[in-house]
Amino acid sequence: MTFPSSSVVIAVDGPVAAGKGTLARRLADKYGYAYLDTGSLYRAVGAKVLRAGGDPADPDFAAKMAESLEESDLAAKDLRSEAVGLAASKVAAIPGVRAALLDYQRRFAALPPGGKPGAVLDGRDIGTVVCPDAAVKLFVTARDEVRAERRYKELIDKGETVTFERVLADLRRRDEQDRARSAAPLRAADDAHLLDTSDLAIEAAVAAAVEIVANTLKP
Ligand code: C5P
Repeated sequence: MTFPSSSVVIAVDGPVAAGKGTLARRLADKYGYAYLDTGSLYRAVGAKVLRAGGDPADPDFAAKMAESLEESDLAAKDLRSEAVGLAASKVAAIPGVRAALLDYQRRFAALPPGGKPGAVLDGRDIGTVVCPDAAVKLFVTARDEVRAERRYKELIDKGETVTFERVLADLRRRDEQDRARSAAPLRAADDAHLLDTSDLAIEAAVAAAVEIVANTLKP
């Protein structure tokens, strides 16, 4: 379903740990827009399947979990773990799961909570499928090793026991699953602006993203 709207939508897509979340959140703050981390929806479905003892690759079960997703599932404590990330990537390949989450994302973009004038959504298919008419599309990337290092630090800070090699291997596996699936694969929209954050500190990456948005929205 599409929703009639005057909301300004910024789509931020890219692979694991490219910096999408930070950039999307900072853009939302700067412009006073609402922010939606769409990965958390897939993570919540993955976590729900694991908690119920199901198989994340089972289409019927995963779709059922997605259809019954509740606000409390989005607040689950283990959402950012590696295990849940991999389960999320498996359920995300199932068309019934994607269909169950689509309206929520489109409604958020068209009618941002709190009556905000716009929304920033980050994910894998925002610019290609969820909001193909977004006013601005960013596709954020970084070299595999740089992304793995960021993810590794984040996990260590949270007290998870992981090795860099394991994080790098998981990240590549998840990206490969996300790129290879037939339902809404990870890819840059033709009209997306590419932003490589490999050699950029956070503030420089934010400044580059703001410049792209400002130039694109310029009347
Ligand atoms: O962004 P994050 O790493 O939290 O996303 C977890 C997983 O959810 C991704 O690996 C991907 O498989 C899936 N996802 C997706 N489409 C989105 C957002 C996330 O398929 N828009």
